[in-house]
Amino acid sequence: MTDDHRLVIACPTCATLNRLPAAKLADGGRCGKCGAALFQGQPVELNARNFEKHASSSDIPLLIDFWAGWCGPCRQMAPGFAATAAKVEPQLRLGKIDTEAEQALAARFAIQSIPSLVLVEKGKTIARTAGARPENALLQWIDEAMASRRRHFPGHSIEGQA
Ligand code: ZN
Repeated sequence: MTDDHRLVIACPTCATLNRLPAAKLADGGRCGKCGAALFQGQPVELNARNFEKHASSSDIPLLIDFWAGWCGPCRQMAPGFAATAAKVEPQLRLGKIDTEAEQALAARFAIQSIPSLVLVEKGKTIARTAGARPENALLQWIDEAMASRRRHFPGHSIEGQA
């Protein structure tokens, strides 16, 4: 890998695609269009407008929490999920999809129960699970899912490019 290898990162605020040197990923960086930090330590609210940018165009995997306001376990898991964002960025982007507001996205992923977690990379589902889990269990699930992703997609390791 060359030092100037660049990754496409979607801005969490305006969804503009930014190109960032992989080696500088850990330092964050700012959106060239709106100036917002590219990593803000919190999940991105995903919708029909910004979904493809984060799920397909971005070079980092996206972990989606499918939830709804009436779902008690979803609300219970929300603080842990939000705290996890700060721990897994910039290797991974966390996003949330309100299944009531974004029914087409929920249907596309055949969400049967919430909360559901789906890990996608370049538009492809890498791993998924259903049910709320505390932050520690969530981090463990992410570790396992990311490890299986490296087995399935050798050479896609971001760490190896830094
Ligand atoms: Zn922006």
